[in-house]
Amino acid sequence: RLLSIEGGEGAGKSTVLSALREALLADGFDVVSTREPGGTPLAERIRELLLGGSGEPVHAETELLLMFASRAQHVREVVLPALHRGAWVISDRFTDSSYAYQGAGRGLDEDFIATLERRVVGIEPGLTLLLDLGVAHGRERTRGRDLLGGGTPDRIERERDSFFERVREGFLTRAAQHPDRFRVIDASPDAASVAAAALAALVAYRET
Ligand code: C5P
Repeated sequence: RLLSIEGGEGAGKSTVLSALREALLADGFDVVSTREPGGTPLAERIRELLLGGSGEPVHAETELLLMFASRAQHVREVVLPALHRGAWVISDRFTDSSYAYQGAGRGLDEDFIATLERRVVGIEPGLTLLLDLGVAHGRERTRGRDLLGGGTPDRIERERDSFFERVREGFLTRAAQHPDRFRVIDASPDAASVAAAALAALVAYRET
């Protein structure tokens, strides 16, 4: 089964991913944890192209197509093979990030993204945990992060709050449109409480 973890910068996706992974491993499942953009050597190179910062502006359309190029490779190389052998796959970001960042954030057409999703991806997670956090709080948490580990600090500093507000709203809109698959988790408490809420959502999902 495919799980995705979504949210803005500093929401604590990696901590939640580790908690879910540990819980599933403890129950004896085969678990593949992965991330987007990235997740395969080629897709990680695309991630570097996107986040590395060559100084040249990255146009919204370029960003969208590179995100989907990374995802096309990731789905075929990692996600589908793992699902076919019966593993659980947990992805730090998936297609919903493109609706939030390139769609709501950069203003690209949602129908175009939906077409790419249909033609290039063709699968969606059974459960998506949206870690929702206020923009100012997220900024506070991302100061001093490593290059490429998370969104690079410089890159985040350059974006306006209004961009991240649109991204946040974009995620919440996706959650409202897909209530069957989304669980929105308040990411403002300490990491242990957020992880506990995520684990509770996983338990509920496993019962379905
Ligand atoms: O998840 P993580 O923080 O590692 O993501 C890396 C960066 O990629 C973030 O700064 C995020 O803003 C950006 N991103 C994006 N569009 C996506 C996925 C990620 O702009 N579809």
